[in-house]
Amino acid sequence: MRAKLLALAAGLLLATACVWSAPNARAQAHGAAATFSGQRAYEDVKKLVEFGPRPSGSKELERARKYIVEQTGGTLEEWVADTPAGKVKMANVVLELKGQTDDTIVIGGHYDTKRYKEFAFVGANDGGSSAGALVEIARALRASNAPHRFTYRLVFFDGEEAVCREWDECGKPGAPDNTYGSRYEVGRLKERDRLKRVRAFILLDMMGYDKLELGRDDMSTPWLVDVLWRTARELGYSKQFVERVEGVGGDDHVPFLQAGVPSVDLIQLSTYPHWHTPEDTLDKISPRSLKAVGDVVLASLPRVEEKILGERAKGKEETSKQ
Ligand SMILES: [Zn+2]
Repeated sequence: MRAKLLALAAGLLLATACVWSAPNARAQAHGAAATFSGQRAYEDVKKLVEFGPRPSGSKELERARKYIVEQTGGTLEEWVADTPAGKVKMANVVLELKGQTDDTIVIGGHYDTKRYKEFAFVGANDGGSSAGALVEIARALRASNAPHRFTYRLVFFDGEEAVCREWDECGKPGAPDNTYGSRYEVGRLKERDRLKRVRAFILLDMMGYDKLELGRDDMSTPWLVDVLWRTARELGYSKQFVERVEGVGGDDHVPFLQAGVPSVDLIQLSTYPHWHTPEDTLDKISPRSLKAVGDVVLASLPRVEEKILGERAKGKEETSKQ
């Protein structure tokens, strides 16, 4: 993602896996809720970082992709992207968990890392944390047998990072040099006539820092941000989800926003000192931070559904009154 001026930004334990806990009547009636393990997510980030720098088109990214597929059971959506460095083979990893309806919540994050010639950039937080947390979200949702109304579509994006040094340096009108994977995903959803059933998009990006502090991204959809921040407060994560504005200026949620999909970006940019530096390494990541985000995302899903269904019911009432 691209940094805006700092002035803009300054605007304002290991969980017990459900299988080990004694099932109670409620859990049996409603199915076991998804449980996110911060430690497992951390192991995923570690694995990804160990592959080394993972820019689009690299062998290292291919290895990371293989790992993600093995861990999640996701499938590849491949294409060849036109970039300032020529044609680059890219692939998103997609996992769809069918709900009772085709109304869909997309949860995504990028797994590529920015290319640097001058130093080895392993992107533990930038590219690693989002992918690791998403692998564990996939695991948690798959392990849970709780029924869900909405379909969940998990997407690991390739090509979030600009090929050129700066975010906007090499873009042309209608063809930015960034967010390749999320733009591809939105295009595919449109092609398959599925975009109109995508009700919300939750994006993870740089959310594993030991001193995690997520502000409210100023491009994100306010009601959706509110749902996540309220959930965080109720779960005791107010220190991680703070009440200040985060100015990001562009990320994988932009193509979704442009397509009219309510979107939220969970990102720590202005207060992450190691962004796009050789110091973005595994020692900056903590299982506790990954868990905070995993817990909030999982607990928010039914709330997002309720909100959308509530609005729809209200709309119908209005129409019938007219
Ligand atoms: Zn980046």
